[in-house]
Formats: sequence, structure tokens, C-alpha cells
Amino acid sequence: MVEDDDAAGDAPSEHATPDAAPEDATVDGPVVLECERCPALCESRSRIVNGVGPVDADVCFVGEGPGANEDEQGEPFVGRSGSVLDDALLAAGLEREAVRITNCVRCRPPENRDPTTDELENCRSHLARELAIVDPEVVVTLGKVPSQHLLERDVAITNEAGDVHDARVGDDQYRVLLSVHPAATLYDRSQEETFEETIAEAAALAGVERENGSGGQSRLGEF
Ligand code: URA
Repeated sequence: MVEDDDAAGDAPSEHATPDAAPEDATVDGPVVLECERCPALCESRSRIVNGVGPVDADVCFVGEGPGANEDEQGEPFVGRSGSVLDDALLAAGLEREAVRITNCVRCRPPENRDPTTDELENCRSHLARELAIVDPEVVVTLGKVPSQHLLERDVAITNEAGDVHDARVGDDQYRVLLSVHPAATLYDRSQEETFEETIAEAAALAGVERENGSGGQSRLGEF
């Protein structure tokens, strides 16, 4: 979390009830157990796909929403995009198990369409609660949809990848690093370098110490 300008100098604020239970969904900390806010997604999902990773991770990746593989396995980024992400994490000295990975919406949209504005809004408080609990050093948006959702403006993601902004989600403000979606590297090889450089930047912003210079096993500094 980053502090608001107008709060600078004040003692760090406590999160405003980050785990406050919503009345229309059943949650357990960052995990959503039951939610029926989006009728179309309730129809199309097999399950709610919650975020994975430590609840005190320094880096939190936010994708758009579960695809078919994620819906089947109940975990974000487990398909081909997940392999691309895992490879870039390792190259940057990060391990998948050390980072938090979640999505803007937790239920698979039908036909893999983009989530609608209403669906994104319906799920925003779940994401806000998760971010408030994890309180990462940096939030990395994977693709145009999460980038636009968090910054609340249009984003030209191929031009803006690697840029860092502060964005408010729920009651708190976070440092947000924009990234192209890992799948973009599968369709356009020229995006590979952009993606890997952005993930390396995420590791640097989170203070990751690499134990060797070639992407070997590493750990989060101060972790
Ligand atoms: N793409 C996403 O945006 N999220 C996933 O979980 C998988 C693919």
C-alpha cells in the first residue's frame, strides 16, 4: 500500500476493516466461498477461482478472469499463460509460490468473453479485500483489462507496459506496475522482452535479491 499525499506524515493508517464481511457473499479473509452477484457468470462458472499465494506476498499479480483451465482446476493462471508467467517469474528470481496471483473477476465468463463493466464492479470489493489483506509492495496488472480496471481509465497496454502508477482500490492506494498479458507473448513474440522486463521490474520493486545472475533459485529480500 502507498500512503495518500494528504496522509503523508501521519502515522500509517490501519486498513479500514479489510476483512469486513459483505452481506451478499460468503467470504473467509481473501477467499470468496459463495457469491451470486453476476447471474451470467454463475451460469458459466464451474467454481469460484480465488487468488493463490501467501497472504503476505510482496508482489500481487492481477489478471482479467479465469479461463477454461482455471475454471477446471480452481487456480488462476494454470494454462499456457500460466506457464509463460511461471517462466518469467523464475527468470526474474521469483517463484510462483512466493507471489500472490489473482484476477479482477473470480468466475469464468462465458465463451471466454471479457468481463462486463458490471461484473468487474461486482467483483471489485473482493479484489479490494484481498489487496488490503495481502498489502503487497507492488500490484502487477496482467493485460489491458486489469490495467484499465485498476487505473479507471483507458490504457494502451503495449505502450504503457512497464509504467508504474498509484491506484486506489477500496480504501487503500497501491503501487501498480502495468504489464502486457502473458498470452500476448504467444501471439506476438516481440512482446516477450517487454513482458520479461516488466516481471523483472516487479521483482526489483519488491526488493527481490537474486542469489545468482542467471535466474536461479532466489528469495524475497526481508521475507
Ligand atoms: N488469463 C487471466 O487473465 N487470468 C487467468 O487466471 C488466466 C488467464
